[in-house]
Amino acid sequence: MAGRDPVVIAGAGVAGLAAAYRLQGEADVPFVVYERAPYVGGYSRTLSHGDFRFDLGGHRFYTKKAHVNRIVEEVVGEDLLVVDRLSRILFNDRFVHYPLSAFNTLRALGLRGAGRAVFDYAAVKLKNAFSAPVPEETFEQWALNRFGDYLYRAYFQVYSEKTWGIPCTELSADFAQQRIKGLSFREAVKDAVLRKGTDDSMVRCFLYARYGFGQIPEGLAAVVAEPNEILTGHTVAAVEHKDGRITAVAVTGPGGRRVQRTCSEFVSSIPVDEIVELLRPAAPAGVAEAARRLRYRSVVVLFLVIDVEQVSPDHWIYVPSRDIGFCRLHEPKNWSKEMAPPDRTGLVLEYFCQEGDATWGRTAEDLRAEAVADLASIGLVKPEWVSDCAVVRMPKAYPLYQIGYDRHLNVVTDYFGRFSNLYNVGRNASFLYTSSDHYIDMGLKAAENVLGHDHDLGEIGRESTYAETWQKGEK
Ligand SMILES: Cc1cc2nc3c(=O)[nH]c(=O)nc-3n(C[C@H](O)[C@H](O)[C@H](O)COP(=O)(O)OP(=O)(O)OC[C@H]3O[C@@H](n4cnc5c(N)ncnc54)[C@H](O)[C@@H]3O)c2cc1C
Repeated sequence: MAGRDPVVIAGAGVAGLAAAYRLQGEADVPFVVYERAPYVGGYSRTLSHGDFRFDLGGHRFYTKKAHVNRIVEEVVGEDLLVVDRLSRILFNDRFVHYPLSAFNTLRALGLRGAGRAVFDYAAVKLKNAFSAPVPEETFEQWALNRFGDYLYRAYFQVYSEKTWGIPCTELSADFAQQRIKGLSFREAVKDAVLRKGTDDSMVRCFLYARYGFGQIPEGLAAVVAEPNEILTGHTVAAVEHKDGRITAVAVTGPGGRRVQRTCSEFVSSIPVDEIVELLRPAAPAGVAEAARRLRYRSVVVLFLVIDVEQVSPDHWIYVPSRDIGFCRLHEPKNWSKEMAPPDRTGLVLEYFCQEGDATWGRTAEDLRAEAVADLASIGLVKPEWVSDCAVVRMPKAYPLYQIGYDRHLNVVTDYFGRFSNLYNVGRNASFLYTSSDHYIDMGLKAAENVLGHDHDLGEIGRESTYAETWQKGEK
């Protein structure tokens, strides 16, 4: 890589790898990817456990961006599968199709609950029609304003507080505005009358790879060739800057060996709070403080080996109940039959938590014992079917949109705006909760900016057309 300084890409998740994919073949723009972990893929990777494979929480691929779709088709090739999605939620002690539509919500609530839900919903609509709009800073205000008191308490509050670990009065309305579509009781009645109770919106297709979602990052990585390289086990430990440009990075490699690498441009998927800490000279105290105030939600994933062919036909099952430890589970074999041997199956359970809290520190055996009891209590798995388990801890799995986060984020992004050759891409670098197609797009567009384009990376993933009916749970 003699001659021009390389573009340095930090992180080999889908965002960093998409940037690498786009730059590969640009003869005048050499690059190097540094990845802290010993593998590529970040949170989009697929793990192996004996004869089983599983994602870190089921990952479907879905995009409205044709150019991203084309790339995924290219890198996964014949192994790309089209899957008909089937998900359910344990709502009011019944498994109902998910995402919840107005029709199946009313059905699950029973006659009396449905009556109260419709009454509260009508009341809030009337109020909205005749009075000034209530400000919607918190998720609670947002949901009450749209769905009324009964539905908010029966569904949104329980599920959101279990997932995010903070009261809905502290959760920013931004989370909902970006991710949840409205609800139409008129549609519910139409469903009931015209479709006789079927709900075809529940069957949607998504793309998946035969050997797991990890084939997407692996496919992107496979494109990278000399003189460019991906160096796993290499941590970007300091980021130097001068006169509004990133000039070099210090990298710690295997055995603690530290090297200095000058760079022409820097594409980073390092979490936003961490990159602020790495800057040399240090960021101003106010910026460092704002970055420290950004919080994340973490996830502990429990994988269970189940000694029967199949537990359920679902892709995901959502469990909002406070009495059950996990929030969601998926059965990888239903996504692709290659994910488990024919006579057995696996289940992946997600426990939402904060890094360092009691859930975070639980042992595999302890979690397994609780999971076995929980799964038996909801009638999914008999205790004697569970024969093995594994645990994976995922720090910073989701940016947490706690009230005030936007103020802190603005301070940090304003500061980053002064660097002409720094591109923050991906989930934690942009502090944006969306899906991997957007992070791929960010990586691609950052690479194009390196090549002279002028894309606004801040707009990616904020398109309103992506909101899904009710709670967007699968990301
Ligand atoms: C439970 C769960 C379910 C999900 N389901 C879906 C889904 O169904 N569909 C979907 O599209 N998306 C889904 N996602 C989102 C998807 O996993 C992430 O969006 C995606 O992995 C983010 O990619 P990224 O490249 O931004 O970040 P990451 O995957 O986090 O990659 C960042 C990489 O940077 C590396 N790194 C960090 N710091 C340094 C450093 N200092 N030096 C070098 N390397 C560093 C990390 O090791 C990591 O590999 C889900 C996510 C979660 C947590």
